[in-house]
Amino acid sequence: MQKSRHILKAYKFRLKATPEQAGQFSQIAGACRVVWNVCLRQRVDAYANFRKSLNSYSQIPEVTSLRKEYDWIGSVPSQVLQQKVRDLDTAYKNFFEHRADFPERKKKGKAADSFRFPQGFRIDNRRVFLPKIGWVGFFKSQDFAGTPRNVTVSRKGKHWFVSICCEVEQAAAEGQSKAVGIDMGIAKLCTMSDGTIVENPDVFKKHKKKLAKLQRRLAKKKKFSGRFRKVKAKINVLHIKIANARNDNIHKTTTSIAKNHGLVVIEDLRVKDMSKSAKGDKEKPGKNVRQKSGLNRSILDAGWGAFRRQLEYKLAWAGGFLIAVDPKNTSRRCPACGHTAKENRITQSDFICVACGHTDDADVNAAVNILRAGHARLACGEFGAVRPLCEAGTLKAA
Ligand SMILES: [Zn+2]
Repeated sequence: MQKSRHILKAYKFRLKATPEQAGQFSQIAGACRVVWNVCLRQRVDAYANFRKSLNSYSQIPEVTSLRKEYDWIGSVPSQVLQQKVRDLDTAYKNFFEHRADFPERKKKGKAADSFRFPQGFRIDNRRVFLPKIGWVGFFKSQDFAGTPRNVTVSRKGKHWFVSICCEVEQAAAEGQSKAVGIDMGIAKLCTMSDGTIVENPDVFKKHKKKLAKLQRRLAKKKKFSGRFRKVKAKINVLHIKIANARNDNIHKTTTSIAKNHGLVVIEDLRVKDMSKSAKGDKEKPGKNVRQKSGLNRSILDAGWGAFRRQLEYKLAWAGGFLIAVDPKNTSRRCPACGHTAKENRITQSDFICVACGHTDDADVNAAVNILRAGHARLACGEFGAVRPLCEAGTLKAA
């Protein structure tokens, strides 16, 4: 059965802003910061003092009064400021659903400057028309398709960029009946239920050794001396190289998985929570802080969060979907007889069921269990008539 649906796809281009336009962007970004901070403050106060929750509906009138009060804010398109208030709704939602930290005040120069036009913009091949600013050219580094729904202007370093968010109608891919379970690793990137193992790139390991060496050297240098700075600069370059190698590998892997599978099941690892819990807080320092932070750092290094996010949107583009399942017992259950015991996993790499003697590679075994858990959730009708995650998640089309 071929079903089509709408998905959102974003394309980012560097803007050819004139100095005057760049000045206008900075002003808009500044006004957005003020609106964000004022509204955030109000929400925190209203809750602390009156146990009252504010949202964009109650706060948008605030924007109108700010615009009347300050000329420089008044000259900024109101839809952009209103959008900022709605972004705050999203930030709160992400916080309550454990996807992000509590929204922070935006400080000048620190926060990434960005603002969105939900309407009034136009696109004409290599330029975009922004209300109150006019036409701005951009470097069209790729083609894009679909109906533009909104545009976001953002700054990175000294350059301004535009992200054009397009709604694309997409036919659910046929012949993508293959399902796969994926077990995320630390030493390797991941293992799949069909036995495929994806290693971390060699260059990644090589750089990491070098990084450890440089960090030891840095510790011996006098802080902020010339030599200290030199080593520090080398470390920064290495960090970028490591991140690039890791991102490359994750991108290639998720692209290939999304192309070849209609259903992907992963563990719901809540990467963010895990990295946080090791730190603990002042009153309640985390248990085994050192031990845990070592593991957690590796988790983050392995890029699990990026892996999941990429799978989510790439599967959405390709017409497949992703299920995240409870990781409990996935490494201890026997897929042959169902016996679940700690003793089944005799070493890091081997699985032997103590009840029936079934044996397999421990990671492949875990991936098989993950796939089964996904099928079980589908069979329970938990997703309705196979409701893709992208329709419920961040890629929701308006
Ligand atoms: Zn067994």
